[in-house]
Amino acid sequence: MDCIFCKIANKEIPSKIVYEDDIAVAFEDINPQAPVHILIIPRKHIPTSLALTEDDKALVGHLFLVANKVAEEKRIADRGFRLVMNSNEEAGQTVFHIHLHLLGGRVMQWPPG
Ligand code: AMP
Ligand code: ZN
Repeated sequence: MDCIFCKIANKEIPSKIVYEDDIAVAFEDINPQAPVHILIIPRKHIPTSLALTEDDKALVGHLFLVANKVAEEKRIADRGFRLVMNSNEEAGQTVFHIHLHLLGGRVMQWPPG
């Protein structure tokens, strides 16, 4: 499958991985939008959040636990951080393998752009 995030998870293309386990991989975003910008992905290829099934409930929970772990390690947990998952075109999804954006290290604006 020609999916850039599957290739990152399989280490077929390089990335700066900050955490990995059997279910998930976390790596630095190539075009960071904040001092800390990490992407957390499942190893399983799921194109958008709309494709999630009942079988994926634990997987999705795991992505959040990994995000918490990385936020602690990057020392942004207490300051605050934002978790974002874009779904489909108008949200700005460009890579169709689900990923949680972990953003922090600066004051965030609301509403988002
Ligand atoms: P989204 O627009 O929500 O689909 O987010 C895709 C994200 O993937 C963007 O923030 C990109 O900067 C990031 N990205 C694309 N290619 C790579 C790559 N090879 N390594 C790391 N991050 C990437
Ligand atoms: Zn994929």
